[in-house]
Amino acid sequence: MNGNLFQLFCDRVAEPGKICIETAGGERYSYADLIELSGRMARALSELGVAPGDRVAVQVEKSVPALVLYLATLRAGAVYLPLNTAYTLAELRYFIEDAEPRLVICDPSKRTGVLEIAQDAGASVATLDAQGRGSWTDLVANASAEFETVPRTADDLAAILYTSGTTGRSKGAMLTHDNLVSNALTLCDIWQFSASDVLLHALPIYHTHGLFVATNCVLFSGASMIFLPKFDANAIFAALPRASVMMGVPTFYTRLLDDPRLTRESCAHMRLFISGSAPLLAETHREWQARTGHAILERYGMTETGMSTSNPYDRDRVPGTVGFPLPGVSIRVVDPETGRALPNGEIGMIEVKGPNVFKGYWRNPEKTAAEFREGGFFITGDLGKIDERSYVHIVGRGKDLIITGGFNVYPKEIESEIDSLPGVVESAVIGIPHPDFGEGVTAVIVPERGASIETDAVLSELEQRLAKFKLPKRVVVIDELPRNTMGKVQKNVLREQYKDLYSRARAI
Ligand code: AMP
Repeated sequence: MNGNLFQLFCDRVAEPGKICIETAGGERYSYADLIELSGRMARALSELGVAPGDRVAVQVEKSVPALVLYLATLRAGAVYLPLNTAYTLAELRYFIEDAEPRLVICDPSKRTGVLEIAQDAGASVATLDAQGRGSWTDLVANASAEFETVPRTADDLAAILYTSGTTGRSKGAMLTHDNLVSNALTLCDIWQFSASDVLLHALPIYHTHGLFVATNCVLFSGASMIFLPKFDANAIFAALPRASVMMGVPTFYTRLLDDPRLTRESCAHMRLFISGSAPLLAETHREWQARTGHAILERYGMTETGMSTSNPYDRDRVPGTVGFPLPGVSIRVVDPETGRALPNGEIGMIEVKGPNVFKGYWRNPEKTAAEFREGGFFITGDLGKIDERSYVHIVGRGKDLIITGGFNVYPKEIESEIDSLPGVVESAVIGIPHPDFGEGVTAVIVPERGASIETDAVLSELEQRLAKFKLPKRVVVIDELPRNTMGKVQKNVLREQYKDLYSRARAI
C-alpha cells in the first residue's frame, strides 16, 4: 500500500470543488486547486533533479504556495525541511551543511547569501516571497500538473524538523509519513473535526503546530481554513464569526483576553479553542471560560513526537493539565536516573511511545540512542506527573529543574504561588550558579501594568506557603519575559542574563 501522506490525503478528498483555504486578502483555493498546484510543483521539483529521499529546505514567509510546497515535496517522495524565518544566514549554513538538501527555497532578500552556502553544499536555490512571487513560482508556472505521486512506505521520511536547540546545537528530527498520518487521523477523531469546520490558522508553518497539527487536521477532514499570515487581533476578530476552531499558543489567548472585543457574542460561532506548544496558565483558562463560555482544550506534544496527549473533547478539560495520552500512545513517568516507572502523583521524566514518535535524529545515531530507552520509549526531557484521575501534568523541562543545597526544586510550583499574588502577571523561576547552594532559586516577576511589586512582600508571602529550601534567594522584577515565536519562555536567556547575580552579590 502507498503510505505517502499526500496520496492518503487525496484519497479522502470527497468534494474537490470545496474551498479549502481562504486568505486574509480574500483569495480562495479549492481542494482541486491545491492538488493541481502540488502536481505542478512536484513536477518542477523533479525537473530540478529532486529525487525521492532528497531534502528540500524551505525558509520562506507564510503563504499558500509555501504550504503547497510541503504537499508537493511529499508528493515527489522527497523530505520537507521547513526552517524558522528568523534564522540568520550563519544559522542557515549549519542546517544546510547538516541536511545536505538538493534544493533550498528562500525569500528573495536572502538569495545572495543562501546561494553562496548552497553552492558549497551542492544545492540549487530558488526564491519565493510572501506574495507567492519568485523564481520558484516562475518555474512552477511552466510545469505540467500531471504528476504521478511517488509511492512511499509508512516508514519513509516525510519531513525533518530541527529542534529549537536551546541546549547545544539543534538536531534534525526525522518524521515518517506514518508519524504524520497517524497523528492527523487521531486528532481529527478526538477533536471531532468534520467537513463543516473552519479553522482559524494564525500559526507559523515552519513548526509542528501550524504545519502538521493545524494543516493536517483540516486536510484530512475535508474542512476549510482561514489562513492568516500571522497573529493579528484585528484579523482574528474579523474571522471569528465564520470560524469554528482556533489553534493557538498561550500568548494568542492572553493577548485576546486583553481585548475588549473578546466576548461570548464574538465567540458564539466557535466550537473549539485549542492551546499548546507552551504551558497555558490555569488562570488564563479560567478567565477565558468566564469571558467566552469556552473551556480551552490544552494538549501536549513536541517536534519529535507530534501530539502525545490531549484534554478530552467531551469531558472535563482540566486547567493546568494536558489531559490523557492519545489513543495508541503510551505515556509513563519514570525516575530520570534509573528509568523505573513511578506511581501516580510522583514527579519524574515523561516518556512516550507510539506511532507518533519520530524515527531518530538525522545523522546522529548517538543522540538518538541516548534519547530512547530499551523498549522504544522516547525520553521527552519534560518533567511531569499523572494524577489520580489519569490527567497528565507538565512540570517543566528537565533542564529547568533547580538543585539547591542538594534539594530538587520544580520551578512550576514556585511560579504558581507567585502568579497567584496580587499585582503579578506571570513569573519565571530559574536556577543561577550560587557559591554556597550550587544553584540559587531566583524569581523573575512581571507585574501588572502600573502595579508596583515589593520584593520583600513577595518573599514574606511565599514564606507562608513554601518550604524554606524552595524560597527564592532573590526576586527580580522586569517588564516582560523573553519568549520565542511559539510563545515559550526562554529561561536560557534569563539564566544567561542573571548568571552573575550571586557572585556579584558576594562581591558587594
Ligand atoms: P517544540 O518541539 O518546539 O514543539 O517544543 C516542545 C516542548 O514544548 C515540549 O517538550 C514541552 O516542554 C513544551 N510544551 C508543548 N506543549 C505544552 C503544554 N501544553 N504545556 C506545557 N509545555 C508544553
